[in-house]
Amino acid sequence: MSAVQENYKDVEKRVAAACDRAGRSRKEVTLIAVSKTKPVEMVRDLMDIGVKDFGENHAQEVVAKTEAITEPLNWHFIGHLQRNKVKYVVGRACLIHSVSSLRLAEEIQKEALKKNLVMPVLIEVNIADEETKSGISEEEALALVRQASELPNLKIRGLMAIAPPVDDPEENRGYFRQMRELRDTIEAMKLPGVEMTELSMGMTGDFEVAIEEGATMVRVGTAIFGVRNYLV
Ligand SMILES: *Cc1c(COP(=O)(O)O)cnc(C)c1O
Repeated sequence: MSAVQENYKDVEKRVAAACDRAGRSRKEVTLIAVSKTKPVEMVRDLMDIGVKDFGENHAQEVVAKTEAITEPLNWHFIGHLQRNKVKYVVGRACLIHSVSSLRLAEEIQKEALKKNLVMPVLIEVNIADEETKSGISEEEALALVRQASELPNLKIRGLMAIAPPVDDPEENRGYFRQMRELRDTIEAMKLPGVEMTELSMGMTGDFEVAIEEGATMVRVGTAIFGVRNYLV
């Protein structure tokens, strides 16, 4: 077994254990292997053990990887998306996790209509209100969900957050809980066409706590692929 396969199995065990602790079914959580900056060979290694969900944060890399690997996989777009790059991602990604403005939502709508498909998206919330992060406040998220729910080729599936980097993952528990509460609040609004099923939160440093607090998708890069050579 290769190192990346071993790492994945290790992370998978930790995901399963966190689900157990929280009394949740393992099936409720999708483990996304964040392959950004990592070579196609490593992705293939994981495909060999049945992994289907991968995460990328650059449009160009999604194009390159989907051209190199034509087998059907679930490519999750998790990075900041510029409007002029939307055309590369719609039709390739299974889910865009990072919608944080109406202008971006409208661009996705336009492209999805052109390609005659419905694009599932998550609304990215800047839960810790960090200046360095993209994403919007809880109040803005409510407004955006309302507005974006009227775009017919966009399907809102839930929320996404990037919690702050911390030494102790317990420090982020409150943020994850806040995300779940926000999800429940929006769900209770019963907006037509809005499905608040997904909560994409938790990375290498804190995915277990995120699962305990209700994450349905965790995005794990470093613990699977090793450290990245450059910051992205
Ligand atoms: C890179 C990245 C991850 C993975 O981070 P790790 O700490 O390496 O697990 C998760 N989510 C987003 C949005 C990222 O950009």
